[in-house]
Amino acid sequence: MTRPKKSLGQNFLRDEAVIDRIVKALDLKHDETVVEIGAGEGALTKKLIATGADVLAIEIDSELVPKLRSQFALENKFSVIEADVLAVDLQSALAENPHSAFRNPHSIKLVGNLPYYISTAILQKLAAERQVFSNIVLMLQREVAKRVTALPANSERGYLTVTTEAAFEVTHLFDVPPTAFFPEPKVWSSVVMLTPKPKSVGDEQRFKDLISAAFAQKRKTITNNLKHIRGDAATVLEKTNIDSRRRAETLTLDEWLALYKSFAKK
Ligand code: SAM
Repeated sequence: MTRPKKSLGQNFLRDEAVIDRIVKALDLKHDETVVEIGAGEGALTKKLIATGADVLAIEIDSELVPKLRSQFALENKFSVIEADVLAVDLQSALAENPHSAFRNPHSIKLVGNLPYYISTAILQKLAAERQVFSNIVLMLQREVAKRVTALPANSERGYLTVTTEAAFEVTHLFDVPPTAFFPEPKVWSSVVMLTPKPKSVGDEQRFKDLISAAFAQKRKTITNNLKHIRGDAATVLEKTNIDSRRRAETLTLDEWLALYKSFAKK
């Protein structure tokens, strides 16, 4: 065993029951492919391989990658890419993967007990590349999971919530205590399922820019935040039937989508 690297968010899963629940939630079939982000010492990887699915792991740690290769040397449906997941084009990686080669392109899944230092960046990346996947199961720090699932009027609701909600159906599955890992993290974790949604806005970057501007100062009204990018923000809000005195955290996803459309009309 190598010494876990804190800088790479290495908290390895030790609780077999938690690993089993994650694998069960993925519901893998033997003709499916699963991408695993951050395979670590292979605790989850081993059970993914046991389902009979193709497993493509992405791991940044150059000490762990050769160990994964030798641990699963006899598994002809396993491969690992040594890379920073944030720099990998997932669709190309899958297309180039000699083992899976898109056997069933409609059933590519993704799983990860994520390195927490970049979990929000990974969520944003997956939202942008979601069309590749039929289903995603992630372990996040509980505080991030709460932000992602925060309902309107909850003060945790913010940019990450709305942009994730626009991209996925999000379901909180279960919470995991620090004792399930080695070394134990300081915080609780949560496993969530993300089911990709089709594109709902024409220009996703413009949608994200709108949400980002609206949440710039959370205590201000939505009008006060948006008037910097659009002088007539109050009028556009009223035309969209949204009270211009509301705060961004109170809007539903449908209201955001309607507002995006009103802004796009000009
Ligand atoms: N899946 C293993 C488990 O459940 O025991 C390890 C999970 S550990 C929380 C996160 C893993 O992600 C570590 O193995 C770490 O080296 C890897 N990792 C960290 N940053 C990464 C990055 N940018 N790209 C790919 N993997 C990364």
